[in-house]
Amino acid sequence: MPIAKLRQLQSERLKEQVAYAYQRVPFYKQLLDNHGVNPASIKSITDIHRLPFTKKTDLLHNYPFGLCAVPKNELSRIHCSSGSTGKPTVVTYTAGDIAIFAETVARSLAAAGCKPGMTIQNAYGYGLFTGGLGLHYGAEKLGLIVIPISGGVTDRQLMLLEDFQPEVICCTPSYAQTLAEELLKRRIDPGAINLKYAVLGAEPWTEAVRAEVEKGLHVVATNIYGLSEIMGPGVSQEDFEEKGTGSYVWEDHYFPEVVDKDTGVPAAEGEYGVLVFTTLTKKAMPMLRYWTNDITNIYYDRSAKRTHIKMGPIRGRSDDMLIIRGVNLFHTQVEAILTELPGLSANYQLVVYHERSMDSVEVKVEISDETAQKLPGAAFTDINDHEILMGLHHHLGKKIKDNIGLTMKITLLNQNQIPRSEGGKLKRIVDLRQTK
Ligand code: ADP
Repeated sequence: MPIAKLRQLQSERLKEQVAYAYQRVPFYKQLLDNHGVNPASIKSITDIHRLPFTKKTDLLHNYPFGLCAVPKNELSRIHCSSGSTGKPTVVTYTAGDIAIFAETVARSLAAAGCKPGMTIQNAYGYGLFTGGLGLHYGAEKLGLIVIPISGGVTDRQLMLLEDFQPEVICCTPSYAQTLAEELLKRRIDPGAINLKYAVLGAEPWTEAVRAEVEKGLHVVATNIYGLSEIMGPGVSQEDFEEKGTGSYVWEDHYFPEVVDKDTGVPAAEGEYGVLVFTTLTKKAMPMLRYWTNDITNIYYDRSAKRTHIKMGPIRGRSDDMLIIRGVNLFHTQVEAILTELPGLSANYQLVVYHERSMDSVEVKVEISDETAQKLPGAAFTDINDHEILMGLHHHLGKKIKDNIGLTMKITLLNQNQIPRSEGGKLKRIVDLRQTK
């Protein structure tokens, strides 16, 4: 759709969505009244900056159904994501919302390389979380054959990859790493499976993980992003032919902004900040300027094949950002450095600790297969015995210091020392400071 037409559509939809939320959700009536915003004054998509933000705490305060815009008998589904106070974040859908959810996931899968008639192994968790059913309905909508295996059960995942020959797998990137590794460990010939595409999301990941997964599973791996509050997975998706240039946001339904994390002021195109989404067509639970806490940037890729705006990979959630001796740090920054050092794997963990009244970080990272093969014996006990390991240790420490500005303790490990994903999101940071 040409940009001018898209803007017109977004403007019409925003006007309607704001009026709808104001009339039907007491929380929004009060919020807009408190901020002196008359819904009739929102006439175009460029007026969006005048609306106040909605935060995760607003959902928790209205638990479970306070933000619902329709009577309960008009709902078709209820999902939850993790909350921060013991109660989950609740999201509701009408049948029409579910249809849009399926439509945007279908678009995402098409952008990821999927074609009708292909088989997809859906290793996202089925259940209260949005991942499993979200991908499921979208895959069916595109005309794929779905294997609804859910997350975990690695033995069975591998068996079905061999026996059912799916062309596509979707799961978290860390679980794709687990599957790739298990294939290798069990000496299953990648030629015995038929995968071509992996659609990976639900947690931040970088080119280091992409390289491992693509090599291990023989796939083209792309990023799918989404969050329950806005819809679920498939809010944005990377195109398989434009890998590494960001993910298309389906902005005719989910309008993105990036704002300064302290002031809330919109950032310039390409600048980093907090991602904010406004739903343009949602009926059960409209969201106006929802503050995702995810840090990234948005921009138009002038050489891309579609007009929709793109977002860069998520660096992390602003509440997961570490501040170490005054330096802001996301674990994805360390992960990105691992790609540049071929002797290391993307299996790592950051341990944050407090020592001599200072916060410090230890990077624990496993060596790569190639490095392991170059060493005499199956494992090492002391890196000082091996020139290759001492070199890697030195280079990693230096690159981290040069790129991030922090001196970190580096610990190289043999293979299989770092916990693996068993199906869901993987915790990359162990913060020992909170337990002191
Ligand atoms: P929660 O993780 O809070 O239970 P969701 O399951 O709805 O909630 O997950 C949404 C969050 O997951 C996003 O806000 C974002 O932090 C993260 N996420 C989802 N997809 C991606 C992705 N492709 N890259 C990075 N982070 C992602």
